[in-house]
This record gives sequence, C-alpha cells and structure tokens, in this order.
Amino acid sequence: MIANPHWNGQFSSLESAAKSHARRPTIVHVGDLVIGDGSFVVMAGPCAVESEAQLFRTAEAVAEAGARVLRGGAFKPRSSPYSFQGLGAEGLKLLAKAREHTGLAIVTEVMCREEVSLVAEYADIMQVGSRSMENYSLLEAVGSCGRPVLLKRGMTARLDELLSSAQVIADSGNPDIILCERGIRTFETATRNTLDIAAVPVLKAVSDLPVIVDPSHAAGVRSLVPVLARAAAAVGADGLLVEVHPDPAKAWSDGMQSLTFDQFQEMMDDLRQYVCVSRGDDVRARTSVAAGRA
Ligand code: PEP
Ligand code: MN
Repeated sequence: MIANPHWNGQFSSLESAAKSHARRPTIVHVGDLVIGDGSFVVMAGPCAVESEAQLFRTAEAVAEAGARVLRGGAFKPRSSPYSFQGLGAEGLKLLAKAREHTGLAIVTEVMCREEVSLVAEYADIMQVGSRSMENYSLLEAVGSCGRPVLLKRGMTARLDELLSSAQVIADSGNPDIILCERGIRTFETATRNTLDIAAVPVLKAVSDLPVIVDPSHAAGVRSLVPVLARAAAAVGADGLLVEVHPDPAKAWSDGMQSLTFDQFQEMMDDLRQYVCVSRGDDVRARTSVAAGRA
C-alpha cells in the first residue's frame, strides 16, 4: 500500500506517525497489558457510567469473557444538549473502583484540555472522541499527560487527517497512541456510520501505530456488532472497543448498539477463530481472545 504513489504523496509529510521502514511498530504498554504486539485486546463496557452497580456488573461480565480494558464515559459528548452528559468526576471515581475490583485497565473520554489532569488521575488510557479529533488544544494537552491515548477518527475525517492529529499528540511528547476506526459519515443511512474497514490495513501500512475498531458506534444496532467485530479481527486490527450494558433497553445512552452480557460472551467466543486465522495461529492454541490468557 505504501508503494502506491497516491498514498505516498498523501502521507509523505507525516513523520513519527508515518511508517519509515527503519522504525518498529509502536507497542503501547498499559500496566502489564500490551497493545500493538500482535495480540487482540478487547476494551468493553457501557457507553456511559451510570451507577456503581451498573459498572461493576458490566466490568465483571466483560472481564469474565476476556476483555482486558473497561470502557465507560464519565464525560459524555452528546449530540443533543438535553441528553445525559455523564456523571463527571463521580463517574471517574466509580471507574477507579471498578479497576480495583476487577484488575481491568480503564479507558475513558476526556473532552477538553482543562479536564486532562483530572481524567489522567483515574484513566489508564485517555480517549479522545470522534468529535474532538480536531481539537488541537486538547491533542496538545494529552500529548503531555503521561498516559496512552486512544484517538478516535473524526466522523468526517480522512485517514491523513487522523494521522495529522496523531502527529500533534506525538509532537507534544506522547508516542503512545492507539488509533480507532469508529465509522464515518457517508450517504448510507442503513447503519449509524459506515465502518471503513479498509482503514485498518491502510493505517497499518502507512503508520506504526496500533489500530483498533469500534463496531458499536459504526453499526448503531447491536445485531451488527459481532459481524463487524469479526471483520476487524480478520483484517488484522489490534483490538476492539465495544459497548456492553446489563440491560441495554434501559441504558442512558447508546442502548440500541450495546450488547447484553450473553451476546458479548458469544461474540468473544466466536472471534477467537478470526483472530487466530488473521495471525496464522492454530485456533486450538488459544483459549481466550485476549492477549496473555491462553
Ligand atoms: C463513545 O465511545 O462513547 C463515543 C462517544 O464515541 P465516538 O467519539 O466515536 O462517537
Ligand atoms: Mn457510546
């Protein structure tokens, strides 16, 4: 792909985020968890932190199924100003308690530079959401926060623009960046967003950074999440970000696309074969999708 003159031209100005053959892939360490080393790391949990009971139940279920990172928004960027905006600092405290309880690492969104130090006190991975991909002041601030960053593709952003944003974080001193394809706006309305599955191999060809896929925000409906997750595993993604809720019908946000615990477990069991095939492994050699749980 990088030999294609179109891509060479488009990415030639990107230095640390773009691949030079002398460089090695970026491997992101989160405690004892490793992302970008060929393993498949699943991050799962509710769209938003709602209560201790909701978060703890979900954390236990996703850990049991093989997830290594608990997701959950405390600060929520909502399309409507009248929708639930998140529990804020209280949500961060619940996430930290859930980490203590389960051993899962925490990924949670930070929406503005003023909240970077607060979120960094609780999060293991700082999520920069789709709507913030071009918030350069936030990107600079997470560049010096001392935590790995999960950078989501803007819903109308090209891949070179995603890499430019990654470059801002890297240039601000933080090379620990995980890219996330979460679907883009197209003329198609059958899904909430259009999952650009080609983004995974393209980003892997032209950059050194790990790439994960968020099938939940791409699909918008839970029935499509497992099949999109399979596609992500098959094209060599480094992992997933998936929404899971104890009772999706009652979720305060994104219930339609949230998996139940049983559906999540089933998806994880099914994914193993696709992860193994894409990595050339023997399916029987792994008992868990997650790295290090063989
Ligand atoms: C989320 O992960 O809950 C979220 C708001 O995602 P995105 O930024 O991709 O819309
Ligand atoms: Mn969501």
